[in-house]
Amino acid sequence: MTTAAGGAPQARPADAVPVALRLVGQIALITVDNPPVNVITSEIRAALRGALIEVRRLVPAKARAVVLLCKGSTFFSGADIGEFSGPPKEQEYRQLFGELEQLPVPVVAAMHGTVMGGGVEVALACHYRVAAPGTRLGLPELNFGIFAGGGGTQRLPRLIGVEHTVELLLSAKPIDAARALELGAIDALIEGELTSGALHYAEMLLASGKGPLRTCDRAVDPATASPQILERLRADARRLYPNRASALQAVEVVASSARLSFEAGLSYETEQVNIAKRTIESHALVHLFFAEREARKVPDLPRDTRARSISKAAIVGSGTMGGGIAICFANAGIPVTVLDVSEQALERGLGTVARSYDAMVSRGRISPAERTARLAAISGTTDYAQLRDADLIVEAVYEDLALKRRIFSRLDEAAKPGAILATNTSTLDVGAIAEATRRPADVLGLHFFSPANVMPLLEVVRAPRTAPEVIQSSLEFARRIRKTAVVARVGYGFIGNRMLEGYGREAERLVLEGETPRRVDTVLENWGMAMGILAVFDLAGIDVGVNVHKANAERYPPDPSYYQADVALHAAGRVGQKSAAGYYRYEAGGRTRLDDPAAIAILRQTAQRLQIAPREHSDQEILERCLYPLINDGFRVLEEGVAIRPGDIDVVWTSGYGFPRYRGGPMFYADSIGLRQVYDAICRFRSEHGPMHWRPAALLERLALAEQTLANWECSRD
Ligand code: NAD
Repeated sequence: MTTAAGGAPQARPADAVPVALRLVGQIALITVDNPPVNVITSEIRAALRGALIEVRRLVPAKARAVVLLCKGSTFFSGADIGEFSGPPKEQEYRQLFGELEQLPVPVVAAMHGTVMGGGVEVALACHYRVAAPGTRLGLPELNFGIFAGGGGTQRLPRLIGVEHTVELLLSAKPIDAARALELGAIDALIEGELTSGALHYAEMLLASGKGPLRTCDRAVDPATASPQILERLRADARRLYPNRASALQAVEVVASSARLSFEAGLSYETEQVNIAKRTIESHALVHLFFAEREARKVPDLPRDTRARSISKAAIVGSGTMGGGIAICFANAGIPVTVLDVSEQALERGLGTVARSYDAMVSRGRISPAERTARLAAISGTTDYAQLRDADLIVEAVYEDLALKRRIFSRLDEAAKPGAILATNTSTLDVGAIAEATRRPADVLGLHFFSPANVMPLLEVVRAPRTAPEVIQSSLEFARRIRKTAVVARVGYGFIGNRMLEGYGREAERLVLEGETPRRVDTVLENWGMAMGILAVFDLAGIDVGVNVHKANAERYPPDPSYYQADVALHAAGRVGQKSAAGYYRYEAGGRTRLDDPAAIAILRQTAQRLQIAPREHSDQEILERCLYPLINDGFRVLEEGVAIRPGDIDVVWTSGYGFPRYRGGPMFYADSIGLRQVYDAICRFRSEHGPMHWRPAALLERLALAEQTLANWECSRD
């Protein structure tokens, strides 16, 4: 920190000055510079406390007001998430914010950028808050299973009331400065240059004789915390955050601001946040945050691996996936040429793309001008010569190895040297596809999920001969198109679909054992899955699964009931939502699942034919039958090196398959309930149903019997 009464800053290297203090006239200007986004690290907290000591020496003789702002892209973006797993820091924050709030002269926070969590709490401890138009403010801590623990639950209700504070917490999304002004969270918008505007604002305060206006001294409007309002907020918390404790806890802590003194409220907040931090829910969410970052690291890529530049892309196949991928690229500003087999197919594909953009405009997601610009970035062709200048070509034609190999050999002829050639196959051997070219080092799998412009996951599948720089390029490209990338090796179904196999198998088997599709899906959804697996099959198309199983029949054990519910529904023409009938029925064009006795009759007949007797299952058995094969296959994916680390599997399942984030993903979940429990249940199912499907993975067995966790196993590998 530099301090310089009279305006002459001490000479220090710029990178050693995260917090600078200087006098501008009679105003002490504190400037924080902690790139890239001014995270409130322990270093920043210490430097800020130092600055406040200096300010106290300057007031009131030399400084009659204080302005606090940040350099760079944003005011404080939030607390240091790296500290979440360490010792509690709330007391330290509380002390710092208390010192800021107790300064004897007016303190103005001048905000810009995206101000989240601890950043908002800094501003709340100041006496006045101003912001540049477009500034966004939010309290997103519930995304980590906690809530504002730096006084936010007590100060914000003193400005905007209990009701609006809880709404902001529960939404976990930022509001813009105009809305913050309307609510009373900030005092003014500063048009033009922020520093001079904020200094001018402080001078105006002084000129009009305004002193410190401390948030802690204000009273909470009791009308915003009536029993009716609190009941509604609790109901919202239960609805928006099922199976989670922290949201309800947040409601109670914010509500306490209306009845407790400020000091007592702060103590209550600290106590409750520290309870929340110790929950599995919070550990799971923090785990995923770091797992998503870690997933970008591929240990065996040479350190000096350089990415190729990708400025133009092409796609072969303009169907469901090709169209979605084209939208995804165009949305990221990457021009893309789409090739299909005929003008007719192309017209159909590009027509669907245009209609998707129309829907985005009518839902207010993008403006008509954005629609026009993005559509202009997508061109169509039937001529391979037009793909010549593409840096990346993604193939998304039917799931047929011979067809894909033919297409790759044509791409080999047409693509420029150095172009990255990717396949979107869900199940086929990427290595076999690569070998259809003379440049297998340039080939890999880029497995998008449907709808490709919406789903965040991208599996980056490396074939045996894929070059490191092709993997690196894909990882960097994934960030540009806002995808969460996870690297997998070739293996049936890669990470996600491989683990889906046993999960779906058991769900189908349960309906053959007499459960209704509704019961199975409801148990899974109540536990937290975004959608039960049978409803997922209806959505994705039962025919798709049937075709995959036909094509891979030799892989599966000789079980006559294997995916037979799918086969029977398919044979009856029930292929899911697109035929308005599958495990459920649907009104024409609708997506609402309706129970269907006709589907249940088909399932019962199939069970009779297979001599599967109906019986009752507890919710717990349904859950374990579905989830434990998924977890068991996760261990196999690790053993075989298809996934690099357990966290990668968790990222795949939470970002691509609707696994509840607050349970941390399947591998974190297995650790959290104990590997022994999973192992014992699999052994029990083996004795009940036979060993064909129920064999614990060797790694699971080894760790479970040794009372180990996957987390320990991972640490011991490093
Ligand atoms: P789709 O049937 O919707 O589209 C396939 C497109 O490929 C059609 O437009 C067709 O005209 C075109 N095509 C066929 N032969 C061609 C050729 N010789 N040259 C050029 N174009 C040709 O299929 P989809 O659902 O988009 O699946 C495409 C690929 O993506 C498959 O490999 C599939 O396994 C994979 N995938 C699908 C999903 C999904 O949920 N649909 C998810 C992930 C991956």
